[in-house]
Amino acid sequence: MRQLLVAGNWKMNGSLQNNQSLIESLKQNIATGLKAEMAICPPFIYLQQVSELLKGTVISWGGQNVSQNDQGAFTGEVATDMLVDFGCKYVIVGHSERRSLYRESDELVAQKFAKAQSAQLIPILCVGELLDEREAGETENVVKRQLEAVINLQGIGSLAQSVIAYEPVWAIGTGKTATPQQAQDVHAFIRGQIAQKDAGIAEKVQILYGGSVKGSNAAELFAMPDIDGGLIGGASLKADDFLTICQAAP
Ligand code: PEP
Repeated sequence: MRQLLVAGNWKMNGSLQNNQSLIESLKQNIATGLKAEMAICPPFIYLQQVSELLKGTVISWGGQNVSQNDQGAFTGEVATDMLVDFGCKYVIVGHSERRSLYRESDELVAQKFAKAQSAQLIPILCVGELLDEREAGETENVVKRQLEAVINLQGIGSLAQSVIAYEPVWAIGTGKTATPQQAQDVHAFIRGQIAQKDAGIAEKVQILYGGSVKGSNAAELFAMPDIDGGLIGGASLKADDFLTICQAAP
């Protein structure tokens, strides 16, 4: 049985005051016996604040992106060791906004994945197709290509220490959620691709769904056999919504 994970991606949202009240509210209302692990990925600048507020709780935290380089003349970048300094457990790599707005290629995402693992961070590798790719019947080819970039660089064994997030780009921030069956089909495909190379890793790796998950649709998504939790954008900014999603884990 795989542990469920619900990770909040705050994107470029938050303020010292809002973060504090959001986290206080999460801490006060976490149900005992919660089955899903919870994690929060705030903007880098708030990692210190968030880590101080979450220390000693059951909620983990992580970065939204990381450099593929160790240190040096890379203005504006943040290194894996810096995330480790602030107690991060996870780091998101290859989010569709990074791939589309900042032109991150499959190869670059694979390098970031590798760098994260070399610092003992757990990469949350995002994969997913654009709307026109889905309409052209290319969904499987796209996620396979994105996954293979990592496997080619790091080997299949690297997936054992990672989390995969299937996020159809047409469902991110749009209010259009993939149906549970649409999501399950792609999750099963991803797990099947991994199983062809290593059945043990395929069985163990957590595959999260992301794309307009809300309190009202989380339970039916998380009930699917290959969906192991969610990567949550907009709904992770409201304590009630995020808690409802976390409590929807079967
Ligand atoms: C995301 O940013 O990873 C995401 C899934 O966003 P939203 O939940 O807002 O669609």
